[in-house]
Amino acid sequence: MSAYPVVWDLSELFSGLNDPRISQIITEATAMVADFEKKYRGKILHLTPEGLLECLQDFEVVNQHYSNVCLYSSLVFAADMTLSEAQTLNDKVDKFEVKISKQLTFYRLELGALLKSCPHFINNSVLVNYRHLLERVYRRVEHQLSEVEEQLIIEKDQFGVDAWEELQSKWLNTRTFEVVVVGEKKLLSYGEANGLLHHADRATRASANRSIYGLLGRDGEVFSSALRNICNDWIMVSKRRKYQTPMEASLINNDTEQEIVDNLLVSIEDGAKMYRHYLKVKAKLMGLSVLGNHDIVAPLPDVTEFKFTFDQARDLIIRAYSRFDLSYAEAVKEMFAKRHIDATPRFGKRNGAFCANFYNGKSAYILQSFNGTLSDVFTLAHELGHATHDWYMARNQTPLNTNVSSIVAETASIFGELLLTDLLLAEATSDVERKAVLCMVLDEAGMTAFQVTSRVWFEQALYNSVEQDEFLNYTTISNYWVKSRDRIFGDAVEWFPEMEAEWTMKPHYYMANYRFYNYPYVYAQMFVYSLYKQYLSEGQTFVPKLKKILSAGSSLSPLEIAQTIQLNPKTANFWRGGLKVFENFIQDLEKIK
Ligand SMILES: [Zn+2]
Repeated sequence: MSAYPVVWDLSELFSGLNDPRISQIITEATAMVADFEKKYRGKILHLTPEGLLECLQDFEVVNQHYSNVCLYSSLVFAADMTLSEAQTLNDKVDKFEVKISKQLTFYRLELGALLKSCPHFINNSVLVNYRHLLERVYRRVEHQLSEVEEQLIIEKDQFGVDAWEELQSKWLNTRTFEVVVVGEKKLLSYGEANGLLHHADRATRASANRSIYGLLGRDGEVFSSALRNICNDWIMVSKRRKYQTPMEASLINNDTEQEIVDNLLVSIEDGAKMYRHYLKVKAKLMGLSVLGNHDIVAPLPDVTEFKFTFDQARDLIIRAYSRFDLSYAEAVKEMFAKRHIDATPRFGKRNGAFCANFYNGKSAYILQSFNGTLSDVFTLAHELGHATHDWYMARNQTPLNTNVSSIVAETASIFGELLLTDLLLAEATSDVERKAVLCMVLDEAGMTAFQVTSRVWFEQALYNSVEQDEFLNYTTISNYWVKSRDRIFGDAVEWFPEMEAEWTMKPHYYMANYRFYNYPYVYAQMFVYSLYKQYLSEGQTFVPKLKKILSAGSSLSPLEIAQTIQLNPKTANFWRGGLKVFENFIQDLEKIK
């Protein structure tokens, strides 16, 4: 959807796959890691604060030396996964990274041990730049096992719990689904059938849903065995690691606290009636008495697809960011000017979209397959938000302070989507356009904030059930799924009976050691909506606050980040602010005749 191919320019990194500097850097980095090991192995435990500062700075220098190689190899591979030279380089760099990571395991273990014996180092003024990094290390220390025990866990997972994930994806990728596509019966792969869940034709959506979940449900006992064993495995590992609850590991990884997450989930449950109200409004817009599960995120029937060229998308996004603040749009403009975006769809290119941080160049690279839909423009605005975040972090933080937890990492990206929404609504020339934009935003936020919350409850219910010695078979698990789902959707949606098996296809539930992946999405969405509410009431005085948040990187905890601008996520009131933004969008939609 562009007059010219939009392909990224990677020459700031390397001149090409055969650039001799790639091998040269790998050789240099190998030597640097060996020097680092020689200097610090067995000695970290005895470092003074000044010595630890030097160690952390040295660690950053070593990592930054080869980071361009890692970035470059992953980018060229994503741009064309069929290119054998790209595969070869990617494979070589992957192995190099694994080797270095193993070689540096001592650093992580010794740093943990040092902080365990000298926790006061965390607040030592010499180490002020790394205070929060050290806090995060310290929080993990008491849950670390001995080196041998850690190795045993890795080994048991590799052919144990990891295999469930493989089994689930193999199942999905080796089945065929019979779907009636606009009146014509077709046998489809999972990916193809899944792509029809958003089809404009209602009967096609219904057929795809019933076919996918019907077949999954028929093997429900197989998936139940997997999930039951994964839950039991996790409970045993959690106890060994002395976690208070099955959620604690996730709270530590996401740099947050139980109290904050509890408050968030309570607010979402309170706000669910508002979401149900939206779903009823949407039913009316679709000419239905009540939505079916296959209509929740369906496009409105009277909306013909809007089409955008890449240039139009660029102009819209630059204007949306500039309306907020002229200097805030600088990172976005630079991304286009330096051609750091690869947008043209082509064979062999990786699916989906991402933004990769380019710390050494104080910039980023974005990949997407831009087909000119409204949703593609939103995706681009989202990824450019990530690039903006990287832009501010690279200018204000050292590399170790750019490791932002997922609940903060989506701040600029979701904010960017809201800025685009704002502009599109202001410039819409017809009610159909306004409705399409509002429904798109509400559908998206509804899924991320509300539907995902029901998955947190589902996961909590599974662990409570195991703790109470209940046997998790297909019926029990599906009952928990339906119960959690209905806590959000109530009477606003009618479900096909097959949908009780919906949990079987969520890959996250099968991933080893990745429990409670879900609430960070809810947190991120609602955190940004709360910020946006603040922006709406404060106007221009809010601009420096957002810049401050983004500049902080991971030098502060998500709670401290909110507190620096006088917000308190520990209160339900904070989260209600975010829900208010959602409510305002619904009211705007209802005002349209
Ligand atoms: Zn994102």
